[in-house]
Amino acid sequence: MKKISAASFAFVVVLLAVYAIIHFYSDESAGESMNNSIPSNGASYVIDLEMPEVGGFQVSAEIIVTNDSQQSWEDLAFFFVPNEMNKESVDAEIESVSVGGTQMDYELDSGGLFIELESDLAPGDQQTLLFEYTLDVPEDSLRLTRAGTNIYLAHWYPMLAEYDAGWQVNDYDPKGESYETGYGDYTVTYRLPGEYLIATSAPDGPVEASTSGTLTGKAIKDFYAAFLDPADWQVAERKSGDTELRIFVPAQSDILEETASLSVESFAFFEEHIGDYPFEELDLIANDGYMEYPNIVEVPSDEALLDSILVHEIAHQWFYYLVSNDPYKNAWLDESLTEFSTALFLNDYYSDEDGGFQTAQAYEASTTPKPYADMALDEFDTASYYATIYGKVPLLLKDFFDRHGGNEAAQEFLADYYEEFQFRRVTKQQFRDFFEAYFEGDQQEFLNSWLQS
Ligand SMILES: [Zn+2]
Repeated sequence: MKKISAASFAFVVVLLAVYAIIHFYSDESAGESMNNSIPSNGASYVIDLEMPEVGGFQVSAEIIVTNDSQQSWEDLAFFFVPNEMNKESVDAEIESVSVGGTQMDYELDSGGLFIELESDLAPGDQQTLLFEYTLDVPEDSLRLTRAGTNIYLAHWYPMLAEYDAGWQVNDYDPKGESYETGYGDYTVTYRLPGEYLIATSAPDGPVEASTSGTLTGKAIKDFYAAFLDPADWQVAERKSGDTELRIFVPAQSDILEETASLSVESFAFFEEHIGDYPFEELDLIANDGYMEYPNIVEVPSDEALLDSILVHEIAHQWFYYLVSNDPYKNAWLDESLTEFSTALFLNDYYSDEDGGFQTAQAYEASTTPKPYADMALDEFDTASYYATIYGKVPLLLKDFFDRHGGNEAAQEFLADYYEEFQFRRVTKQQFRDFFEAYFEGDQQEFLNSWLQS
């Protein structure tokens, strides 16, 4: 949303406000607890990002935290994981954490950043914190990385943790997503040492190179930003429904068209069969990151991997982003439903009743899955995590729907589930209750066969 006039900016602000009201408050009903409403803990981020030289950043992050729990908070907890994701390479050094000019004591431990407050933050009250830090992003790191002059900023700033009768902070675990964040509003200003193509979680607008700008986005779980060297990329821009898809593939690649058309086809399928995507832009970067972020995904540059990985990352926008969950204790709520949705699309795409489940079958066959899906990330080893979450669970859902109406019934179930939980943080128990109420008869035996009650 850069380079627009003040008048059109004001218009966009009004639109965003209307949008936020419609999407945040229309689903709320009086009987629901605070845990079910969105945002589960509101945070507003104003981040200033300066890159004086390629890969080196000076960051200033002002974070306005609202206590929308029912309890007073003695401290605040954030995830600050750059050094955990890349112990040997990335260097993030906090210079200061302050409140109203007063330096605060903080503790950074295994990616959890805790700040003791001078006085308790009562329910409904706000606290504004200012973080100043430097960030050094070398090549060949994990996720938060650089490739030549191209920069990929993932999980690069202090992200407010979720509060649910206590701060939900886990040690960093690279197998999956150990950091759970709520929905927040973002204003990110950047200044770069040269011209870059900008692709972020915010609406970035038509693809054009810039050296500086300000981006704003609402209801973003965690803010991702890529700064791409214009010489290294070719771009396709496609419209699907109300959403602009911006597809970036390497300049020397010959699969721009294949990537763009599969993106549009799968995105349209998920909008039609699961539900409307409420944001104006989705970016896809073929940098082989294989990772989902709000409104932007990292996808393969290898044509052979498009079906299984590109489609999976797009499906994550529905399960992980638009329906949220704790990915540490219940990774199946996003990963398994994403893989299941991917397979449903591929069944349709291949015109093959169950041909879309090949990836899940390969995962399940790779090693012995764990008996239960709802084990914490640190209770899995990497192989059993994949076999269980990406293999066994999508396949047992397939088996269930094979007996309960087939692919179409599965899509209807996902659509109703999405409608119920959009912009909410769904728990295992909420999924169980929804599932039990949705189908005729007692579903406890089925649910208990793969979830610990
Ligand atoms: Zn995934």
